[in-house]
Amino acid sequence: MATHRTKMLIIGSGPAGYSAAIYGARAAMEPIVVQGIQPGGQLTITTDVENYPGFRDVIQGPWLMEEMKAQAEHVGTRMMWDTIVEVDVANGSPFRAVGDSGDEYIGDTLVIATGAQAKWLGVPGEQELGGKGVSACATCDGFFYRGKKVAVIGGGNTAVEEALYLTNHSDDVTLIHRRDELRAEKILQERLFKSDKITPMWNQTVERFVPGENGALHHLELRNTETGETSTLEVDGAFVAIGHAPSTELFKGKLPMDDSGYLLVAPGTPKTEVAGVFACGDVMDHVYRQAVTAAGTGCMAALDAERFHAGLEIELDGHAHEAEAAE
Ligand code: NDP
Repeated sequence: MATHRTKMLIIGSGPAGYSAAIYGARAAMEPIVVQGIQPGGQLTITTDVENYPGFRDVIQGPWLMEEMKAQAEHVGTRMMWDTIVEVDVANGSPFRAVGDSGDEYIGDTLVIATGAQAKWLGVPGEQELGGKGVSACATCDGFFYRGKKVAVIGGGNTAVEEALYLTNHSDDVTLIHRRDELRAEKILQERLFKSDKITPMWNQTVERFVPGENGALHHLELRNTETGETSTLEVDGAFVAIGHAPSTELFKGKLPMDDSGYLLVAPGTPKTEVAGVFACGDVMDHVYRQAVTAAGTGCMAALDAERFHAGLEIELDGHAHEAEAAE
């Protein structure tokens, strides 16, 4: 069991974690990234990416994450193939974390970039057809269904926003909800009901995603939650929008969170309540949730961590001088 020390310990390896690492390394913070169970994060389960700035041609999500990782390593980041299972922030800097390898990590600053996971329905065909018609991100994949029939599943803000977004690409959007009333904010509901491109389907659950002969999604099997009646709906794309869950299990009772479990930060900053602990990317952002915004807040976290560290060193020096004077 080894102990690894760093000025900047980064937990999580999506665009937020890697961006924090790139900035941290260039500021001589000698960062360590503990990659977690899904190195590269949510982008590794998407395929085509067309909205990350800087690439005129379509790029692949996993490739983009490999490039970010390589860039972070190139400027001096240490990557650890480990998953943090325990974190201690109660005593202030330095912060201690333990990996499931048994290794211990000590960071003068801590950057939390553990991300979020889209929730899935967990019904047959859903995972198998991921990237072949089934998606959890209309902003990422909606463009590929230009002029095609699509469905969105869910009744919250995300589902309604995704349905509205999809009308930019498709004239035939069905919103499938398990009740007869939406949870989404009224203003979003009004926009939805005004659109002649969106048809709501009430009291329906998706029982199965069924492929066609080409292996891509062909139709949905539905069940009426009131009558139990079953039916099918032919679609080219289906977007599951039943919420996201931030990966914050590690920090329960240790850092303030909102009701959905997202880490709370001081407005407009990545600063958590604990000085020296920063949160960036989807773990603190339930609104934008884009690779580019995650990268942006990762950069902010690194810059603030660097500033904190500079302050910390001055403070520690101060203590050292006081100690010398007292002798
Ligand atoms: P929500 O939890 O608000 O909504 C989830 C929706 O999915 C609900 O309608 C729920 O149905 C439905 N659902 C959940 N599980 C299942 C299931 N197993 N089968 C079928 N349907 C299911 O999640 P959102 O992602 O929409 O929003 C999360 C948070 O983020 C909210 O606080 C929201 O306000 C916020 N947000 C804000 C935005 C904004 O301000 N612009 C944009 C997007 C999100 P039911 O209603 O029956 O429970």
